[in-house]
Amino acid sequence: MEPLRALRGFRDLLSPETDIFSYIENAAKEIFKVYSYNEIRIPTVEMAELFIKSTGETTDIVEKEMYSFIDAGKRNIALRPEGTPCVARAFVQHKLNLSGKNSKFFYIGNMFRAERPQAGRFREFEQLGIEYLGNPSASADAEAIILLMAFLKKTGAKDYFAEINSLGCSDCREKYKKELLEYLKKNASELCQWCQNRIEKNPLRALDCKTDGPKLSLEAPKLSLCADCSTHFEKVEELLRIAKIDFKVNKNLVRGLDYYTRTVFEVKSSALGSQDAIAGGGRYDNLVKSMGGQDTPAVGWSLGVDRLAILLKDTITLKNNSPKVFVVCADKNAFNESFKILNDLRNGNISADFSNFELSLRSQMRSADKSGATLALIMGEEELKNSSCSIKFLKSEEKQQEIPLNELLKKTKNILNKENHP
Ligand SMILES: [Zn+2]
Ligand SMILES: [Zn+2]
Repeated sequence: MEPLRALRGFRDLLSPETDIFSYIENAAKEIFKVYSYNEIRIPTVEMAELFIKSTGETTDIVEKEMYSFIDAGKRNIALRPEGTPCVARAFVQHKLNLSGKNSKFFYIGNMFRAERPQAGRFREFEQLGIEYLGNPSASADAEAIILLMAFLKKTGAKDYFAEINSLGCSDCREKYKKELLEYLKKNASELCQWCQNRIEKNPLRALDCKTDGPKLSLEAPKLSLCADCSTHFEKVEELLRIAKIDFKVNKNLVRGLDYYTRTVFEVKSSALGSQDAIAGGGRYDNLVKSMGGQDTPAVGWSLGVDRLAILLKDTITLKNNSPKVFVVCADKNAFNESFKILNDLRNGNISADFSNFELSLRSQMRSADKSGATLALIMGEEELKNSSCSIKFLKSEEKQQEIPLNELLKKTKNILNKENHP
């Protein structure tokens, strides 16, 4: 029989990759606490409508990549392609604007996109992100960006930089959409098929197109901000400078989602090649209201954990996962005592492992060497008689010792301390 395999575009993560993911998640949780963000866990599956209405019907995520299907109840449901609409939905559903608490959330979870599987791109991938709802001030935008940069610094990542831009408010946008549409219609023959089909629905999307975007960014008319939007953007820049954040203004940064208003930003790394964005986000002042909630300005970002893991793979050294002690049973009469020692060590918070006490001494010692442990604790006939246990040093030339069982934990800890900090 042909053994079953994981679905195409889906994968298993194994150690040491899982260790890098955990490292990133732990660093995120620590820094989120420092900035007063609380965890929110959102469902993996939502009504597809949620993303169609918020992320945007004409966005790549929804139009080409959304993992949606009709379930047994004949509902059109989707595996979440991103977290922001889910958090906004939760905010409205639970009336969190009335809770009186700071509405600052972080999430860590898997997202899904049904795009063609290709090198380094999976249909299920991990994102972590924050959403800060209810604060219209430029200080909220600045905080979001500062937090993102502080987090990356904490992970030890190198070679990354932030780019920011402003997309203006709905007033600026409506005016600009008209100008841009006029320009695009005049030059429609030069656009790709996708863009030709959707410029009427959403002309801004063309700026984001992989084929047409680069040329348009040079030639198409630029958005001009209204007075309020300019002031807001200047304040964000000022605050970022106060926080000593390195950033560039990139007037061509558009972010391919419908709900963004005013500030948008991305963090990129030249080490990642053409898919250079690690994280991105922006302000979305109209999203909550468009979902039936109260007028709630908001800002947030998300970061691709898989991308960051690639970046960190060669720059960080992770803590060694090896057990400290490997218990070996050298005589079948010592089986139970060996098993008891193993448990005593673990109860004493010493990481310990074993292979199979019924195997030969040689085979168990081979496993001990492979395990990366510092010590082997050997229980044989002699030791059983003496109520003791032999300690063999696996990483140094030190001579084998015998320790009494009633001092097992204390002595083992002492020896491990000495071995690790000579
Ligand atoms: Zn404006
Ligand atoms: Zn195009």
